[in-house]
Amino acid sequence: MRILDLNKETTSNILESLLKRSPNSYGEYESRVAAIIEEVRKNRDAAVFSYTKQFDRAEINADNIVVTDEEINEAYATVAPELLDVIRKSLVNIRAFHSKQLQNSWFTSGENGTILGQKVTPLDKVGVYVPGGKAVYPSSVLMNVVPAKVAGVPHIYMTTPPGADGKIAASTLVAAKEAGVDTIYKVGGAQAIAALAFGTESIPKVDKIVGPGNIYVALAKKAVFGHVSIDSIAGPSEILVLADETANPEYVAADLLSQAEHDEMASAILITTSRALADQVSKEIDYFVARLSRKTIIEKSLENYGYILIAPDMETAIDTVNEIASEHLEIVTKNPFDTMTRVKNAGAIFLGEYSSEPLGDYFAGPNHVLPTNGTAKFFSALSVDDFIKKSSIISYSREALEDVYRDIVQFAECEQLTAHANSIKVRFEDV
Ligand code: NAD
Repeated sequence: MRILDLNKETTSNILESLLKRSPNSYGEYESRVAAIIEEVRKNRDAAVFSYTKQFDRAEINADNIVVTDEEINEAYATVAPELLDVIRKSLVNIRAFHSKQLQNSWFTSGENGTILGQKVTPLDKVGVYVPGGKAVYPSSVLMNVVPAKVAGVPHIYMTTPPGADGKIAASTLVAAKEAGVDTIYKVGGAQAIAALAFGTESIPKVDKIVGPGNIYVALAKKAVFGHVSIDSIAGPSEILVLADETANPEYVAADLLSQAEHDEMASAILITTSRALADQVSKEIDYFVARLSRKTIIEKSLENYGYILIAPDMETAIDTVNEIASEHLEIVTKNPFDTMTRVKNAGAIFLGEYSSEPLGDYFAGPNHVLPTNGTAKFFSALSVDDFIKKSSIISYSREALEDVYRDIVQFAECEQLTAHANSIKVRFEDV
């Protein structure tokens, strides 16, 4: 893996190259996605069935688009009991973590009988996209469904592309059932997003669409935003390890590779104040890569977006961490909690040498749907907040309004909105 000295120029070159991976940089796909969305909007089910035939080679129609109880039972009979056990243990942790995020409605009363407040209401219908093209992602099912469930969303619909045989992977179905999905539709890609955004004869229109997917899915979510809400436009996975001389090079190398194996666009970066650690990690990476099953993908992603950066001091290292604003950040320093207090931008922060990133992907409880491509500067992990909305509550008594009515009238008249002023005045003056 290439080793570079960290300075302003390397940081700015790396940032520029990382940003090119954003789905926003793939304009050439946008017109294809727009055409699919338009077609689904116009021809609804017929378009969904036709695209599913074209892209997934599956014969889907109104009679078989919904996964049946029988198919779910079959899935339970197929998955290994050990996997089911792990899914259930992981669910307990994910539920416990997200339950801490629940917010209550609140009300406050003032003088003369004023009541102000905020009423928290879960979204009514949520669509969860689960990718299914090249691999299976039961962990994605849990991470997207549980916060919606904890928020109290009453209707959760899932879509995922079927295989050519019209089937969905058993582990995906079992995870969906365990997490509490109401209905599963066998449809993927941009056509699934369009169907959820606008509704078809078979698929209900939802209020919000969440879940990761390939470039077609990401751009379709971007295109329907405004018609429905979306969680985010996820880019390729990222890991940044911030380490000093106390870090174990073998662990650091293994953790960098855990993200590099995702795809050729994934990025894996080590920033360290120790040249000796940099050299050792580089050697460990060579050792592991030769032995890992996704060697070809890892080699490509390291060649594209893999860096070991040697920082002159910890302050410069932390400044760069904040500039990159990585999806995942591991801090492996003498005192990781102290280092963490100076970190402002990261999707999820893993502290100490026993908190390797896959712990968060599958099991610890925090959400693995995280901001990518530097968006951790202004976005957060998927959470219960994504599945609620807040209505403001305002209630004044006659006395309370009479105390302040002239102030409101003055404001309204300043904006020349006389009907506004009138609606206040009419209660106290002969208008
Ligand atoms: P997918 O379900 O996202 O995409 C499959 C669908 O793509 C097909 O159903 C088809 O409709 C559509 N498609 C394929 N070729 C097309 C074409 N030429 N024109 C129009 N539509 C076409 O599954 P995938 O392709 O395996 O991608 C999954 C993605 O999700 C990967 O990039 C993976 O890294 C990502 N992922 C991210 C996370 C996360 O948490 N960030 C988790 C799991 C997966």
